[in-house]
Amino acid sequence: MHRFTKIVITLGPASSDPAVLAKLVEAGADVVRLNFSHGTAADHRDRVAALRHAAQAAGRVVGVMADLQGPKIRVGKFAADKVMLKSGQNFVLDAECRLGDADHVGLDYPELVEDVAPGDVLLFNDGRIVMDILRIENRRIHCKVRHGGELSNNKGINKQGGGLTAPALTAKDREDIRTAAALDVDFVAVSFPKSGSDMRQARDLLAAAGSSALLIAKIERVEAIANLEDILHATDGVMVARGDLAVEVGDAAVPALQKRIIRTSREMNKFVITATQMMESMISSPVPTRAEVSDVANAVLDGTDAVMTSAETAAGQYPVETVEAMVRVCVEAEKSDEVALDRHFLDRVFTRIDQSIAMAALFTAVHLKVKAIAALTESGATALWMSRLDCGVPIYALTPSTRTRDKVSCFKGVTPLLIRYAGHDRDELLFAAEEELIRAGAAELGDLIVLTIGEPIGTPGGTNTLKIVRVGEHRTPN
Ligand code: PGA
Ligand code: MN
Repeated sequence: MHRFTKIVITLGPASSDPAVLAKLVEAGADVVRLNFSHGTAADHRDRVAALRHAAQAAGRVVGVMADLQGPKIRVGKFAADKVMLKSGQNFVLDAECRLGDADHVGLDYPELVEDVAPGDVLLFNDGRIVMDILRIENRRIHCKVRHGGELSNNKGINKQGGGLTAPALTAKDREDIRTAAALDVDFVAVSFPKSGSDMRQARDLLAAAGSSALLIAKIERVEAIANLEDILHATDGVMVARGDLAVEVGDAAVPALQKRIIRTSREMNKFVITATQMMESMISSPVPTRAEVSDVANAVLDGTDAVMTSAETAAGQYPVETVEAMVRVCVEAEKSDEVALDRHFLDRVFTRIDQSIAMAALFTAVHLKVKAIAALTESGATALWMSRLDCGVPIYALTPSTRTRDKVSCFKGVTPLLIRYAGHDRDELLFAAEEELIRAGAAELGDLIVLTIGEPIGTPGGTNTLKIVRVGEHRTPN
């Protein structure tokens, strides 16, 4: 049973026990997400250590993602930890307020007052509470509660329609970038970026901290939709962050945006993760709803690289069952998808040599109905190109670099394999590649496979060669 779609799981209290983590890895987690909005650096360090141990024991490759908190604007704390707000009542946001009550609460971002005007709509706790701004007086924001409910300590605030000017990287994010680099993570997700320059700033900070992690832009702001191509140019991958996105653009706009973000990302050679509430009811139920099954399957059919869990695995009662259900739904959805190379693939013009070889490999694989595509790759770039189109043939990224092996963990349809050959002899390298494919169960003697490689061996440079091989036919007797 080969699964093409990757599974990203969010770690938290429900998945910190090493025994549970081991089960999550065995069940099929491909990438773990450390949510830097919660927990201390020590919590993240312990989880990474437990994860690496579990992955090693299970013989699986699991990438690690650090997800930065970003400039999420939050209410302060309440004297009683929470209040019940009634629809129709007045309520004041006041940065000066230390402990809140039913009339007013503090703000962790005093500049909010400059970003809003009477008539604006503020949403709290992922849109569960809605307030209309009546007036602003002495830097206090006076609101009328449109939809009441329980508001507790440090719940997030969004402005409907976007337009908050908080910088994308906070002081905490800068500190967390250093922690992420020290943990040697494979991916860093940037929350609430508004433009490509936010992503470039994150990349500079990461580089300064000594990390070459792949960057993920979380698309969760109105501005990010307007600047999607600019952001895509500056990032390696994106996340369709439906939680905050739905609050900013309105929930009904999200499904079509999800399709557009996935399509554009793949066209621009970026990987894409679909996230938030995918299996929400499994926080407290061992089985998903019909709607959740359809949501995961539809994300697969949209072409997402990965589907993600949030609270289901971080704080839910059924973390392992959630991953098992996702695996089952992905595999079935992949079967239903008609395997055909995109029509407009044929009309595209490729200018890069490695990209042309990658596309030729897909074309050949489909027409010759080969068992596997094997990309011998130093950086993983060839595997990324190959995985931007669905050809229905498993892609194996054979690499001598553990860094590259872990990075391709998020690419749809790509299975990483470490190749332990350090010499410069082409035939020996191809032999080692075949051995590894056989060992991994990817191909057997006599199977037809497509292989890509950069020649001459050992000199840095991109993939430039495509070979169609019958496994075993060129074995050097020794
Ligand atoms: P979050 O991001 O879980 O960090 O808020 C995902 C989202 O907003 O959907
Ligand atoms: Mn978010």
